[in-house]
Amino acid sequence: MKRNYKTVYLDHAASTPLDSRVFNAMKPFFTSAYGNPSSLHHKGTEARQAVEASRKIIAEIVGARPEEIVFTSGGTEGCNLAVLGCAQMNTGKETDKHGHIITTQIEHHAVLEPVKMLKQQGWEITVLPVDKEGFISLDDLKKAIRKDTALVSVMYANNEIGTIEPIAEIGRMIKAQNARRKTQSLPEIIFHTDACQAVGALDLNVNRLQVDLMSVSASKIYGPKGTGFLYIRQGIKLKPIFHGGGQERGLRSGTENVAGIVGLAKALELTQAHREQENKRQTELRDYFIKKIRKILPKITLNLNGPAIERAVPPKFDGRQKMGVQGMNRLANNINIIIPGVEGEALMLYLDACGICVSTGSACATGSTDASHVLRAIGRSEKQARESIRITLGKGTTKRDLDYVVKVLKKVILLILDER
Ligand SMILES: *Cc1c(COP(=O)(O)O)cnc(C)c1O
Repeated sequence: MKRNYKTVYLDHAASTPLDSRVFNAMKPFFTSAYGNPSSLHHKGTEARQAVEASRKIIAEIVGARPEEIVFTSGGTEGCNLAVLGCAQMNTGKETDKHGHIITTQIEHHAVLEPVKMLKQQGWEITVLPVDKEGFISLDDLKKAIRKDTALVSVMYANNEIGTIEPIAEIGRMIKAQNARRKTQSLPEIIFHTDACQAVGALDLNVNRLQVDLMSVSASKIYGPKGTGFLYIRQGIKLKPIFHGGGQERGLRSGTENVAGIVGLAKALELTQAHREQENKRQTELRDYFIKKIRKILPKITLNLNGPAIERAVPPKFDGRQKMGVQGMNRLANNINIIIPGVEGEALMLYLDACGICVSTGSACATGSTDASHVLRAIGRSEKQARESIRITLGKGTTKRDLDYVVKVLKKVILLILDER
């Protein structure tokens, strides 16, 4: 489509452009290295070696063993395999009864939907509430744990409001509970985190985080769409969702997406190497943008959804949990604001007409007009949710981009408010 404006892409929480270095690493696996990794001839071996080398790179970055990494078709499959695979492993194990699962109100649909399906099958579900900044309470979680709790699934960082949940603390608490449960011969609680938004920005070491399962997607870290992995701690048993040739130690049948896997490893390597520096840069850009927009639209009460950016360390964090940026509790790239009186969807379309891509507080699921469940969970009204827009920065975002957005926003908002 021909446009008069240059594109200013500020929807990195939805998808990121493919890094050219990632693309270059992938190319040979579309053209010359086309073998099936399961084939025993040299073309197969070539592909197998690329898959295993990628697995090793990823395992090292997350502090795992290579055999604990299972390649998937992205974050959604990882979350489904974690939730359903864990549930199916437990179904009817001890008694005929189903067990209990704990999750949160602000999870991605990739977790909420499989959980909903399990509920229909008879599983009991506790959905933990969050406070107005999107944090769950460790106390609530502790109280929700029951004898038959099989799985706790809490996202690492939220895709809409950027809240970073205290995963390491949750992990530590569950580990302590599990030690106690062992002496009472109760089944272990498995802890899954959806790290799809955290992957480019935060510490991914599974031992520091004390997670058993961790879902990651490549498409949010300048890697290819439709690729990802699930970390599965040794000893944790899951039932596969896909059945077939038995690839990925039987956990994920189907010919491996070799190019995608190579791209995933390369993308992870690149983002993890630059994350501290990029977090710092994006934090400055974000704060600059918020300050500027507050100044330029003084009459408009600008509400920030998610953790306050003025307050670096919330009381909930005791400093033991080292994050991408020390004590950081909000993703550096996330800006989610309510502009009262301005319909987010209309604003989004106006901005798009000027080349600017952002997202709204509704319609996270394609075509849906429901107000965001995340914004509702932090106590925003339907109206406020509809007046919200999400701006997510990326590594290509510059100050100039943001200056342009502020300029356009001012014009557009005044225009919209005037029209009414
Ligand atoms: C993007 C995303 C997913 C889904 O990942 P896909 O690779 O698109 O399947 C799941 N959870 C979160 C938090 C996400 O941001």
